[in-house]
Amino acid sequence: MQLMKTKKALMPDEIKTMRTLVVGLARSGVAACNVLRDLGVEVRATDAKPASIVGPEVAALGDRGVKLELGRNSVEFARDCDLVVVSPGVPLETPLIRWAYESGRTVMGEVELAFCLSDARFAAVTGTNGKSTTVSLLGEIVGGATDRVKVGGNIGYPISALAVDLGDDWTMVIEVSSFQLDTSISFRPVVAVLLNISPDHLDRYCSYDAYIRSKARLFANQTADDFAIVNYDDPDSMKALEGSRARKFFFSTAGEVPEGAFVRGENVVVRAGGKETMVFLTNDLRIRGPHNLANGLAAALAATVLGIEPDVIRQKVRDFKGLEHRLEHVDTVGGVEFINDSKATNLDAMECALEATGRPLVLIAGGRDKGSDWSGIAELVGRSVKSVLAIGEARDKIRAAFSGVVRVETAGSLEEAVRRAFEQASQGEAVLLSPGCASFDMFDDFEHRGRCFTRAVRELKDEYEDEGNG
Ligand code: ADP
Repeated sequence: MQLMKTKKALMPDEIKTMRTLVVGLARSGVAACNVLRDLGVEVRATDAKPASIVGPEVAALGDRGVKLELGRNSVEFARDCDLVVVSPGVPLETPLIRWAYESGRTVMGEVELAFCLSDARFAAVTGTNGKSTTVSLLGEIVGGATDRVKVGGNIGYPISALAVDLGDDWTMVIEVSSFQLDTSISFRPVVAVLLNISPDHLDRYCSYDAYIRSKARLFANQTADDFAIVNYDDPDSMKALEGSRARKFFFSTAGEVPEGAFVRGENVVVRAGGKETMVFLTNDLRIRGPHNLANGLAAALAATVLGIEPDVIRQKVRDFKGLEHRLEHVDTVGGVEFINDSKATNLDAMECALEATGRPLVLIAGGRDKGSDWSGIAELVGRSVKSVLAIGEARDKIRAAFSGVVRVETAGSLEEAVRRAFEQASQGEAVLLSPGCASFDMFDDFEHRGRCFTRAVRELKDEYEDEGNG
């Protein structure tokens, strides 16, 4: 596939001459500062967190000549800058960012910065759920065909650090969140995959429609030389595709599609330009649940339009074990399987977990609620769950939503929830951590929550075996 030289919001030589402000100094902001400093750019950086709680990597920026403002985001500090690079965690309503837009500064996120600094072809995956899983699988598949691939986003290294200076013989497989799409300008992936859209982050968008529009930005700069890959089974994703000029391909676990990937019997078939290719068998996939089949279809389809041979796709699909914290088998204690789905930070992911587990289970849910409508999932919970242990800030909301359909108890900590869930589960059943909530009320992040769950299960197992069982 030939990639035409793409128009970028700013060319690297232009960026080199700009006085730049980086807003937000978590992983991606720190990476952006370093990338820009490496290019010789004059960089300032600001974070609302005080100096006492930012990490040593922020202090190290000071040693690299980055001028820092910590503990506030002031317009005075930003006034001399022409380019503002915003981290995904920073709301665009922040007064500093509003000022930057209103005063005509160029405002971009890290994905746009990466795109401007690189000639690589980008294969970008967005969606409410499944991005990391699909990006990892697609990255593995592309890596089976070429060494010239980098995989980034939430997993691995920040995108700007990976992309800088790559030539057009490289492929960047990246995960893009709606926040990153909101701050992209010219970003034009050769392959753009939209997995699904369901209510999430409604604490940051004024409406669900605004969230759908944000996802639709993935296709905004694509032309007829590019490929858009969309979930045929999801009306909101199909809606986001309206107006796209790209070549459209679809994937469906429910039936055949005009062009794209679908299941026929045991076979996953890709139909493109009237030609059908069998790419893998459904039971080649080791990651469980219909949602993971959808992720597999999307990755296989993206790989096909990138020109990768079906035998490479099949091999990599068979090798792929899935990611930590996503329906991850932790251990079995006394015949009860413990599953870590800490990454389920919204109800759609929780719903997929309940459908994928396929056996009676005790559910541990809760954390920081994102304004979700828990009543919508109550019927499924009533059908698939034996009892619920609710934790964190959302516990009373969960009890109110589910107590009509299932036994619900609250627990003061995740460790306590693990123990009580074990008491309630019988042999052959499962205990599933699928919180449906953000983790920040009790943990640093979802990984920390997942690790605590795993540790609690290991302790439980040790005690159980010390008592002469197992
Ligand atoms: P993301 O990077 O979009 O957050 P992950 O691959 O990390 O996606 O998965 C996040 C959560 O969503 C996990 O709990 C996982 O089991 C669930 N999930 C994965 N793929 C899908 C999908 N296609 N639809 C719904 N939920 C999914």
